[in-house]
Amino acid sequence: MQKSHIQKNLEKKVKKLAIEMFGWEMDKPVIISNRMKRTLGQYVWKIDQDTKRPELVKFQFAGKLFDGGFKEEDIDWIIKHELVHWYTDISQGRPCHHNKRWKANCRRFGIPDSRLTKLEAVGNSQDYRWKYQCSNSNCRAVYRRYRRIPKGYVCGKCRGRLEEFFLKD
Ligand SMILES: [Zn+2]
Ligand SMILES: [Zn+2]
Repeated sequence: MQKSHIQKNLEKKVKKLAIEMFGWEMDKPVIISNRMKRTLGQYVWKIDQDTKRPELVKFQFAGKLFDGGFKEEDIDWIIKHELVHWYTDISQGRPCHHNKRWKANCRRFGIPDSRLTKLEAVGNSQDYRWKYQCSNSNCRAVYRRYRRIPKGYVCGKCRGRLEEFFLKD
């Protein structure tokens, strides 16, 4: 009961912020995960096979964000941080991660990204265990993943063979 109430409020807030910030309807799942340990927020995306552009799969937030130890303001910043990932990738048509474009958008939407980066401590590259790089010398796209990609998967951009790298033990 309590949990689903928190999830509903969170989902409402994510939708509201997406409209307020850039006028987009957010109609993908918003999930609270208790399995996220070192990551507070996560924007999950995939490459659309037809358009070859990134698309939103879902947003995930760590259960511990809602245990009472985080200020409302910090939670909002984490949500906005993830929303800016979505906005940047879609408007640029490619995965931007924490690049210059993403940082410029953070400034535009008034997010203090230095602090957020710390709060996010995050997740992105530090937590990934697997790295894949396209073997096609004209592409060399890099993908980082929490989970191992099953054999036989190919590059989302050019369908080239992926080389696998293990990042941590
Ligand atoms: Zn981020
Ligand atoms: Zn490729």
